[in-house]
Amino acid sequence: MSKVVTLPIKPTYNNSFLKLFTPFVADLISKVLKSGLTIMLNTHIPSRRDRITEDIKKYKKVLKKINIRGFSKLSFQTDGSKKYQNFVSKQLECLFEKGLVKFENKIILLCECGKVEILKEAVGDVLVYKKRKSLLIQDKKDGSSKCSLCSSKLKEKEEIVAILKFPDSKYSNLTETNIYPNIFIKEIIGIYKWYLSHGTVISRSHKKTNLTFQIDNKSISLDTDFWWSLYLGYIAQKDQQIYLVTGQASLNHATRVILICSVLFPKIKIELVIHPVIRINDSKSNMSEYTVDEYLTACGNTKIARAFLSLGLHWGHSSIKIPSTDLFFIQKMFEFKKIQSHKNLEEKANMDSLIKKVNRRLILILFKKIRQGKTLTKNERQTMNLILG
Ligand SMILES: [Zn+2]
Repeated sequence: MSKVVTLPIKPTYNNSFLKLFTPFVADLISKVLKSGLTIMLNTHIPSRRDRITEDIKKYKKVLKKINIRGFSKLSFQTDGSKKYQNFVSKQLECLFEKGLVKFENKIILLCECGKVEILKEAVGDVLVYKKRKSLLIQDKKDGSSKCSLCSSKLKEKEEIVAILKFPDSKYSNLTETNIYPNIFIKEIIGIYKWYLSHGTVISRSHKKTNLTFQIDNKSISLDTDFWWSLYLGYIAQKDQQIYLVTGQASLNHATRVILICSVLFPKIKIELVIHPVIRINDSKSNMSEYTVDEYLTACGNTKIARAFLSLGLHWGHSSIKIPSTDLFFIQKMFEFKKIQSHKNLEEKANMDSLIKKVNRRLILILFKKIRQGKTLTKNERQTMNLILG
C-alpha cells in the first residue's frame, strides 16, 4: 500500500490555523488514492518529555476535530524517540562510509544568535536568498548577508565542519520523482542544482544542539534540520510508494528530504505533491492571526472548518489569497441548505484526476449550486463528501 506523508510537523497546539492546510490536503489525497496516512511529529529529543507528550496529545485532538483520519487508520511517528535516534546514528555512519559526509576545513559565516551557520562559498549564490524559509536576508544598502532573526551581519570563521554533499549522478533521480502539479518542475530543478553544487553544513559548533553523535572518533552536534530530514526512510517500507505533501514555501526542505532519501533508500518511490500557501485577506476580523482553537471556535463545526480550507486548493499556484468574509458565506450556506452527502467514495483515483476534480474552481461552483438550492450530481456529492470529511 502506498503512503501519504507530510514534512514533519511541530505539534504545537497554538499554531496558526493555516498550518492545518497541509494535513487537510494529505487527508484528501489519502482518501482518494486509498493510501495510508502518516504524520511525522517534529519534536527532536525533547528536554521535557512530559510537556512533549502533552503537546502531542493536544495536536492529535486537533486533527481529530477536523476529521483528519486518512483512508484507513492515521498513524503518528516522532523524531524524538530513542528508536529514531538510533536510526539517525546508523544513517550518519552510512553517509560517512559512502563519503557523502566529510570533515572539511571551511570558511563559515556566522550570525550573533547562532542560527545561521553557512558555508561562505554557498552564500554568493543568489538562489540562497530565494530559497523558501531561508534565514538569510540581504542588506538593502551594501548587499551583505544578514540573519533574519537577529539582524546581525555575518562574520567569517575558518573551522572544521561536517559537510553533506550529494553525488552528481543522483541528479538523474529527479526524473523518477513525479511532481504534482508539474508546473513546479523548473523550480525544483533549480533547488536540486543548488544542493548538488553546494555542501550543506550538518554540524553545529556555535549553537550546540542536544543531538550529539560520534563519527570517525569525532563528536558532532547535529543541525536540527538535518536531523528530521532523514525521516522518510524511517517511516516507509524499503520499496514503498510515498506521496510527500508539502506547501510551496517548503520546497527547499522537501527537495533535501528527497535527495537524502534517494541516496540512503533508493528503492523508495517518491511522488511530490505541492499545494499553494494560503494567505488571508482580513476584513473586520483578524482571521489571519487565528490559532487553531480560535479558528475552530469561529467555524463552529468540522464541516465548515474543512469547507473553508478547501478554498485553498488552487493547484499550480504558489499562494492563494482568501478573503476572511468567505467564512461567513460558507456558514450561511450551511445554515440554510441541507447538504446531501453521498456515503461511498469514488473508485480509487490518481493524483492527476484528483487535481482535475477537487480544486478551488470546481469547489466554488459547487458552493454556488448549493446556495442556489440546485441538486448536486452524484459526482458532485462525492466531491462534497470528500471535502467535508
Ligand atoms: Zn542570527
